[in-house]
Amino acid sequence: MNLSINATHDPNLRSWVGSANPVGTDFPIQNLPLGVFRRPGEVGVSRIGVAIGDQILDLFQCIQAGLFQDFSEKLQEACAASVLNPLMASGQDAVSSLRRRCSELLRQGSQQPDLESGILVAIAEVELLLPAAIGDYTDFYASIFHATNVGKLFRPDNPLLPNYKYVPIAYHGRASSIIPSDTPIVRPGGQRKPPTETMPSFGPTQLLDYELEVGFFVGTGNPLGQPVAIDQAEEHIFGLCLVNDWSARDIQAWEYQPLGPFLAKSFATTLSPWVVTLEALAPFRCPAFSRPAEDPSPLPYLASSSNTEWGGIDLTLEVWIRSAQMRSTGMAPFQLSCTSFRNMYWTIAQMLTHHTSNGCNLRPGDLLASGTVSGPELGSQGCLLEITQRGAHPIELPTGETRSFLADGDEVILRGYCEKPGYVRIGFGECRGIVVERGKDKTE
Ligand code: CA
Repeated sequence: MNLSINATHDPNLRSWVGSANPVGTDFPIQNLPLGVFRRPGEVGVSRIGVAIGDQILDLFQCIQAGLFQDFSEKLQEACAASVLNPLMASGQDAVSSLRRRCSELLRQGSQQPDLESGILVAIAEVELLLPAAIGDYTDFYASIFHATNVGKLFRPDNPLLPNYKYVPIAYHGRASSIIPSDTPIVRPGGQRKPPTETMPSFGPTQLLDYELEVGFFVGTGNPLGQPVAIDQAEEHIFGLCLVNDWSARDIQAWEYQPLGPFLAKSFATTLSPWVVTLEALAPFRCPAFSRPAEDPSPLPYLASSSNTEWGGIDLTLEVWIRSAQMRSTGMAPFQLSCTSFRNMYWTIAQMLTHHTSNGCNLRPGDLLASGTVSGPELGSQGCLLEITQRGAHPIELPTGETRSFLADGDEVILRGYCEKPGYVRIGFGECRGIVVERGKDKTE
C-alpha cells in the first residue's frame, strides 16, 4: 500500500500559482491530480495536465521546455502522450517521481519557470476530456447500505442476498458510453413494464436516476492467469475519480433478472476529469469498514491486516441538483446527499483482488467503480431510488418543484473532497451532467 506521507503532502507548501492557495480550493499543491485536456482550436490534439488552482500544468510543454530532461525516455514519452494509459502502465515509482517534480516546480520559493513557454493554461480555457482510453469498465456494488435499501425495494422479504457478505458483487459495464463531465445525458428509451401494465412497451425512461460512485483506474495490469494478492492490490491502482452511473430504473426493473443490468446502465456513465492519485490520498486513509460481529470474516484471499487497518479512504461525497427553472432564476444547486466513502463494505483493494482472483487480467486504464455510495443515515443515500423510495416520497426543490426521478433539464453535480486536521484539504473537482430530452441533444 502506498501510505507513505512525504514532502509533497507538507501542509506548509504554497504554490506560486495564487489560485492554488486559498483554504478550501480543490487543487492545492498537495493534490496534483492528472487529467487530459484540449486547447481551443487544437482539433484532435490532447495533452496530459496536472490541475493546480484554476490552472493546468501542461506536461507536454514541460518536456518541450526541458523541465523533465532527467526523466527516463519512457517516462517522458508517457508524459507527452494523449491519454494517461502509458503513465498508468509505468508504475507507482514513476508516477511518484512525476508528482515530486511537479510539486517542486510549482511550489513557492522555487524558481518560477518562464510562463511564455506555455506550461500553464487556465482550466476555464480548455476542454477537459476522458483521462484514459478505457478498455474495460466494471461496476461493483460495494455499499451494504445501498444494497440493502435497493434490495428492500425490489425484494421486500429478501433484501440482501446470501452471497453479499462474501462476494464483492459486480457486473461488466460498457466502456464505449463512458463520457467526460459536462456531456449532455440523452434520456434513454427502452422496454419497461410497470406493475400496473400487463404487457411491456418501448419509450423514454420515466424513472431516470443518477448513482454517486467512486471510480478507480488500473495502473499496471496483471497477466492473464495471475491473480493479484490483496497486499499487492493497491500497487495496481493509479488513482480515483468521481463517477455518475446514470440508471433507468424502469428499464432495470424489467430486464435485470436473471443476468443483471444491461441497457438500464449502458447509455451513459459520466466521469470527473481529474484523477487523484493514491499517493495524494495517503494522509486520508482509514480503517476498512468495521463489520458487525455477527458478519462473516472475508475469505482469506480478501483479508489482510493492512487492508483492515488502512484499506478505507475518508473521502466525503456530495450530490447536488439544479433544475432548468433553478438555473433560469439564478438559484444555486440544491444538495441531495452527503456521505463518506469510508462506509463501503468492500475496499478498493478487495474489489481489485476479487476481480483478478479467477485469473482475469486487468489492463492499464481499465476503470473499476465502487457502486452507489450510501451511508446508514438519512441524507446519505447516493441515488434518488433510495432517497424517494422509488418515488413514494418525492423531494421538494427550493423552487417548489418536486422530483421522484430526474426531469429533462435537471443537472446533477457530484463533488468529493478529503480533509483531516494537520493536512491541506484536497478535492476531486466536479462530475456534472444535464439531462436532455430525447432528440433535443443536437439542437442545444
Ligand atoms: Ca452502479
